[in-house]
Amino acid sequence: MSPAAQDAHHLLPTYARFPVEFERGSGVRLWDSDGNEYLDFLCGISVSSVGHCHPKVVEAVRDQVGRLIHVSNLYFTAPMTRLADRLAESSLGGGVFFCNSGAEANEAAIKLVRKARPGGDVVVLHNGFHGRTYGALSATPQESKQAPFAPLVPGFRPVPATADAVRDAVDENTAAVVMEVIQGESGVLIVGDDVLVAAREACDRVGAALVFDEVQTGMGRTGTLWGYEQTPVVPDALTTAKALGGGLPIGALVTGERLSTVFSPGDHGSTFAGGPVVAAAALAVFDVLDDPALLARVRALGDHLRGRLEELPRVETVRGRGLMNAFDLVADGGPTAPDVVTRALLEQRLVVNATGPRTIRLLPPLVVTEEEIDEAVARLRAVL
Ligand code: PLP
Repeated sequence: MSPAAQDAHHLLPTYARFPVEFERGSGVRLWDSDGNEYLDFLCGISVSSVGHCHPKVVEAVRDQVGRLIHVSNLYFTAPMTRLADRLAESSLGGGVFFCNSGAEANEAAIKLVRKARPGGDVVVLHNGFHGRTYGALSATPQESKQAPFAPLVPGFRPVPATADAVRDAVDENTAAVVMEVIQGESGVLIVGDDVLVAAREACDRVGAALVFDEVQTGMGRTGTLWGYEQTPVVPDALTTAKALGGGLPIGALVTGERLSTVFSPGDHGSTFAGGPVVAAAALAVFDVLDDPALLARVRALGDHLRGRLEELPRVETVRGRGLMNAFDLVADGGPTAPDVVTRALLEQRLVVNATGPRTIRLLPPLVVTEEEIDEAVARLRAVL
């Protein structure tokens, strides 16, 4: 066991950590404190999408950190303004609120839609995941995550991810439907286009807002900059975080025109949000990802990965889009997904994660090569 794992006496046990201590990362690879090299097919749960320590991100951060690290949000900085432009112009064209994480981005979205329709309900989907803070947790209808922390924020209406259920739930008192286009934490469950279209039509019917949580699907993960671009629906607002900062903590709520005038000064805020260092990192990430050739490659590599996964023993229901993928293990009494993940991590030097007892998720950096995918699949085969 690594020294850091042995000496970890003062970390509250909110994570069941593996006894591995990572020291260094480059591209698709990580190195632990014993010098072992790993292929990282989790990338910090969809964070290090441009690869670990991408030279453009490192350079942008180094440059900015020597110039200005922080000023209050009472003032402008060029990186923040430029990043807001890139986010809005690449998506919904309205306004941007910066924050520090995915949960915070969803908190901002919930406050925004409630202000737009005071007292309104928020319709959310079963198996959705929107974060661990109280508003985001209240939008995450999963018993094991919510029950210990009751009472939650009122006014959330969870419904199954079907077109009929969404249509029936939305009425004149609905402030918003908040949903992922692919439910990542629940095992990469693709929400059907019929559900998205039903949500769009229902929101239009009653003047509610449709908010897509693109915290995991955004920033190129599915092979387009935003996940919604591969669906028939455009939302009224989206949230992003994870890959946005190339590994540094930044999140954002991006609105279309209609919702861009809802917040007024004092309605919402965050001391660190959109600071110049994280914004400079995110601009560098945009420079890497906002490239049609790279995104086309993500789609092709996703097809290749799913094809290779289908060939593995004990694997069923391979699913995903671009480089956001998962598969289930057959329920044959053999090792479970958490067992396989532990062994893959510790013995085969492959970093992936289990999102459930039978489900393994793969989220490699978007700069992964076909050879690295084949190498990862070979390591999975060795375990399965
Ligand atoms: N929304 C989605 C879709 C997520 O996948 C996550 C994290 O996994 C979150 C929100 C929460 O993001 P964070 O952990 O940055 O608060």
